[in-house]
Amino acid sequence: MAALNAPLGIFGGTFTPIHNGHLRLALELRERLQLAEVLMIPSAKPPHRDAPQVSPQRRYDWVRLAIGNESGLRADDRELRRDGRSYTYDTLASLREEHPDRPLVLLLGDDAANQFHTWHRWREITELAHLVFVERPFEPPAPAPELVAHLRGKRAHEAEELRARRCGLWMSAHIPPLSISSTRIRRLLKAGRSVRGLVPEAVISSFTPEDISLLAHDEEPATD
Ligand code: ATP
Ligand code: MG
Repeated sequence: MAALNAPLGIFGGTFTPIHNGHLRLALELRERLQLAEVLMIPSAKPPHRDAPQVSPQRRYDWVRLAIGNESGLRADDRELRRDGRSYTYDTLASLREEHPDRPLVLLLGDDAANQFHTWHRWREITELAHLVFVERPFEPPAPAPELVAHLRGKRAHEAEELRARRCGLWMSAHIPPLSISSTRIRRLLKAGRSVRGLVPEAVISSFTPEDISLLAHDEEPATD
């Protein structure tokens, strides 16, 4: 089989704010799966929770600050440039147009994976990208039966398998767990406590009093 281009990782989130758990996930998987790049894509209007008070632009700014000049990670603002809800399907479809021959690898923490069967056109997502499920502390994997049925027989065990096809496989990845969530960071900020060690310094330094007040207001993400 002809060698395909190096795979592109796609890592979406609301990033309210981005934290070191997100960064480590992107870096570990980039290295482990030999991804050309990981695109970190803030969700402008998340379909499954209320839009954060913090603007998409601000959340995107933080992703850029967190990445700094780390090669191999890139902030991507395509969901900010689209109207309507930010569906991962649409994001992957636009990436597929830009990269017709490249394997696309969607990176998902287990909490996102457990909800994956509720996502817009989720079955078709597997015709655009591979799925890689990442352990997350306190979020035991509990994939829905319809997802398990859909993915039966499509498991990859080695990164090389993801390089040989453009989409359609899935894999589990174990990375050293970091028990960090944006929810906890918002709670700490609301209580006037330090978030050092959880959030990249460049992001902390950029926080304005307004950012902190909006983050505190977003403390509990509402889910549907
Ligand atoms: P919130 O508490 O607001 O939901 P979060 O920390 O869960 O924030 P999100 O932006 O919701 O961050 O998550 C984006 C993606 O990152 C999801 O796939 C999620 O599973 C994954 N993720 C977030 N934090 C971690 C972590 N500490 N370890 C592994 N995966 C994580
Ligand atoms: Mg979350």
